[in-house]
Amino acid sequence: MGDCIFCKIAAGEIPATVVYENDHVIAFEDLNPQAPVHVLVVPKAHHENILDGVSAEELAEVVAAIGEVAKAKGLSERGFRVIANTGADAGQTVGHVHFHVLGGTSLGEGLLP
Ligand code: AMP
Ligand code: ZN
Repeated sequence: MGDCIFCKIAAGEIPATVVYENDHVIAFEDLNPQAPVHVLVVPKAHHENILDGVSAEELAEVVAAIGEVAKAKGLSERGFRVIANTGADAGQTVGHVHFHVLGGTSLGEGLLP
């Protein structure tokens, strides 16, 4: 946890372009965007991924924050996609639970490219 990059962003120790923040969650621009809008919504408490003790309250905060991100980035009308890569097969590269919010273009109907 000491080395966790998203814990450091949540603590303000590493810079990020913050889109929304409250006591429980922080949302910031992905460094390597995969769509015109690509924001990460991150509970501030450290959990490896969604299997690692994320509480119902934290998930509710995440969903509310996704709504704030959608509003701030103008996604509410056209829609967007939310992805939470979990573990090796999903290609999770950062071991702090996070939700990708992708949008700003038509992403198509399939789940995978
Ligand atoms: P995942 O592959 O689901 O674990 O996604 C990790 C995401 O974190 C990737 O999309 C990275 O581009 C992004 N990322 C890694 N480091 C940073 C950082 N310092 N600031 C913003 N996004 C980051
Ligand atoms: Zn962390």
